[in-house]
Amino acid sequence: MDDVIIIGGGPAGASLGAFLSKAGVSNTIIEKANHPREHVGESLVSNSNRILSELGLLPVMEAEKFIHKYGAAWHPPSSEGTVSIRFAEFPLEGVDQPYTYHVDRGKFDLALLKHAEALGSKVIQGITVSQVLFDENQFACGVRVKIGDQSVALKSKIVVDASGRDTFLGRHLRLKKKDPIFNQYAIHTWFENVDRGDEETRDYIHIYFLPVERGWVWQIPISRDLTSIGVVVEREQFTQAKGDLESFFYEHMHSTPDLVYAMRDARRVRGFKTEGDYSYTLTKFVGDGYLIIGDAARFVDPIFSSGISVALNSGKFASEVIVKALAANDFREELFKPYEMRLRQGVEIWYEFIRLYYKLLPLFTYFIQTPKYRLQIFRLLQGEVYDRSEVPVLQAMRDYIKKVENTETHVFRRALTDIPLGDLSFLPEFEAELEALGGASTAVTAN
Ligand SMILES: Cc1cc2nc3c(=O)[nH]c(=O)nc-3n(C[C@H](O)[C@H](O)[C@H](O)COP(=O)(O)OP(=O)(O)OC[C@H]3O[C@@H](n4cnc5c(N)ncnc54)[C@H](O)[C@@H]3O)c2cc1C
Repeated sequence: MDDVIIIGGGPAGASLGAFLSKAGVSNTIIEKANHPREHVGESLVSNSNRILSELGLLPVMEAEKFIHKYGAAWHPPSSEGTVSIRFAEFPLEGVDQPYTYHVDRGKFDLALLKHAEALGSKVIQGITVSQVLFDENQFACGVRVKIGDQSVALKSKIVVDASGRDTFLGRHLRLKKKDPIFNQYAIHTWFENVDRGDEETRDYIHIYFLPVERGWVWQIPISRDLTSIGVVVEREQFTQAKGDLESFFYEHMHSTPDLVYAMRDARRVRGFKTEGDYSYTLTKFVGDGYLIIGDAARFVDPIFSSGISVALNSGKFASEVIVKALAANDFREELFKPYEMRLRQGVEIWYEFIRLYYKLLPLFTYFIQTPKYRLQIFRLLQGEVYDRSEVPVLQAMRDYIKKVENTETHVFRRALTDIPLGDLSFLPEFEAELEALGGASTAVTAN
């Protein structure tokens, strides 16, 4: 019997497997697909480098020749006013490289899985988990899989759901709650011959704001020749397209001058894929005998490329409480709670940043160009959201928005949307509770 069974071999499951194997914990990752498989989410943030470094994966990232991501650029709907950042301006503590990566997810996820396997994880591919088993005390104690005609029970001390947006356990236990504000859809594919920009910004991620509310396009370099392009819009707009995806996609591609220019000679090399219904949370991420990590626990709008970083960090945080629980031979929910609190705390900061971004788009570009706030915005964009009890720049953004709301003549006034302002006042309480549980090892306040 394994100590841990992990459902799903994406970045969350593979990083957890790798951390557990490094700690000498026996684990099996069960993945329904046969990698390499296609997956959306191709651009990392710098914070991921720490995890990749800790797991010894940076040499693999170089060997795979993943494109180096040195920065990011945002293009407004008119062709004037593009802003960009270069990560080297404010290097992250503990991250030696001035860049992170853009990845072909087929190759990246396979490399992570292989790495976990090399460290000691057992990896089973092409097998779907059909059920999580619970014992007479309602503790998760294994899974059921189908192999050929046979239904096989595999026992473990702890079960981890890393099934991504399938939210396997969350759906089964009815823990999933749809996001009340965001309901976006994406349509994406790969192109050759995209004009990715000048020498300096060619390998940045480029985000093009569309002239529709909460609409944007990503441009992510996948290789020297291939570029991933995705259109994100409100579900309502997508529904109006009535299934004609191609016309819908190109209509938006033609709606801003910068995009028209970048795509003038582009040739599509893959079919279109769509993603929907992707903003949600689970009411809890842990229970007796189980943990839920990565997208399976929480998904926030991908505007800032946060997903892989959240998945990798959730694998690390989960591994820490699992090691403690195994040492104590105690698999009650309480033992796993510090993991949930750390992850929630981090993702809520992402969520609030995203919410303020959509509330007043020009504010983001204004703040990023204001010396007083530039470093703090950088830190958020790099994924520094964990173990923080305060994020002053988000409060400053909120205060600014209130000022705009109260000033009829304000130049940003017309850009205000109806998204409600959030509240992160729970962060210090979270921090105190987490400390009491012996959870977070470092309490970093915002710089
Ligand atoms: C439109 C869009 C754009 C995005 N852009 C970015 C981006 O630029 N940067 C970024 O960092 N993130 C981005 N993301 C998010 C990113 O895709 C995810 O956060 C990331 O893939 C999460 O990793 P994961 O391991 O939790 O889940 P996944 O990568 O989805 O892995 C889950 C795995 O579980 C397997 N599985 C599911 N059910 C079962 C089962 N029953 N049995 C066995 N295996 C199972 C699946 O086959 C899959 O391989 C984007 C997401 C969307 C929707």
